[in-house]
Amino acid sequence: MHHIAIIPGDGIGPEITKAALMILEATGIPFQWEMIPMGESAREEFGTPLPNQSLERIRELKVAMKAPLIVPKGAGSVIVQRDGHQRRYSGVNAAVRAEMGCFANLRPIRSLRGVQSRYTNIDLVVVREITEDVYTGMEHQITEDVAALIKVITRQASERIFRFASDYATRAGRRKITAGHKANNLSLTDGLFLRCGQRVVQEYPGLEFEDLNIDNLCYQLVRNPESFDVLVLPNQYGDIVSDLCAGLVGSLGIAPGGNFGTDVVFFEAVHGAAPDIAGKGIANPVAFILSGAMMLDYLGLAVESNRLFRALEQTLEDPENRTPDIGGRCKTMEFAQKVADILTKDKK
Ligand code: ATP
Repeated sequence: MHHIAIIPGDGIGPEITKAALMILEATGIPFQWEMIPMGESAREEFGTPLPNQSLERIRELKVAMKAPLIVPKGAGSVIVQRDGHQRRYSGVNAAVRAEMGCFANLRPIRSLRGVQSRYTNIDLVVVREITEDVYTGMEHQITEDVAALIKVITRQASERIFRFASDYATRAGRRKITAGHKANNLSLTDGLFLRCGQRVVQEYPGLEFEDLNIDNLCYQLVRNPESFDVLVLPNQYGDIVSDLCAGLVGSLGIAPGGNFGTDVVFFEAVHGAAPDIAGKGIANPVAFILSGAMMLDYLGLAVESNRLFRALEQTLEDPENRTPDIGGRCKTMEFAQKVADILTKDKK
């Protein structure tokens, strides 16, 4: 029995969670789901979007699926009180990643049959460092007209992310690591990141290493995305480039992700809580379902993960089964039911 923490989240979160859990159950794998309150619904009950007992429970269960949490505009920083210390985070999603000790965000970007896009043969992975760079909260006002922030790049975090990416690439049978940076202008910070990549990837004889300035990388991604395999990026470039890559395969609604730490792993869609379409039953659940497939891989259930992927593609091939964001009229739960039916039939 796999005991998994589930954070249904805000906005479209509860809708895509319901769809994903229905499909994961249809694989026949024994799961026990434990719902964890977080986000705006938790704020009503506990006075904070991130109750300590919720964070603690995820640490205990170690594996979670997290739907998006809303980031209220102008809400200011999120504060978590733990071990007598106050920790301040720029947003609620960043806070969960940090509180879980996650340092790597992995986003597979793969063309899906049945989802229209400009490209048809993309299969790459974005590995984003998520503990430092410009998102450490060290942003300050110098005068009324001048603001500044500090960009932090350390050898320890940079080596760790390249090692994580290289181990992943080796396990997944991938060949090439591309580091994105701006070392020509930021020779100390991005220069350090790049040198760490060159050194670490050298330890893996099966892997090729290349590096590109981040602006050139964006250009090449749009011109020739099929040539990339594993991209390794510092926090901010990773944030931006992973949305760009989601666009390459057709929709944010189909891009999954996983956050990896030493003790806790959690899977989440790349997209946000999409409050503009919440409650309408039209959210695309594919990204969260694919995040579930990533979880199956992580749990050592690769056969079931592939089965789920195939069922998803088979469903999407019929235009009748597509949600509005990818050109159809299908509802979230109708789509989920179709995928679940294929999986259930397939099992018999
Ligand atoms: P955040 O700051 O949380 O990332 P955001 O508004 O910048 O929020 P999203 O919530 O990802 O970003 O929404 C961006 C756009 O994509 C919205 O128009 C939203 O409706 C759409 N969108 C995002 N996810 C989905 C989905 N799963 N299905 C359909 N449309 C989606």
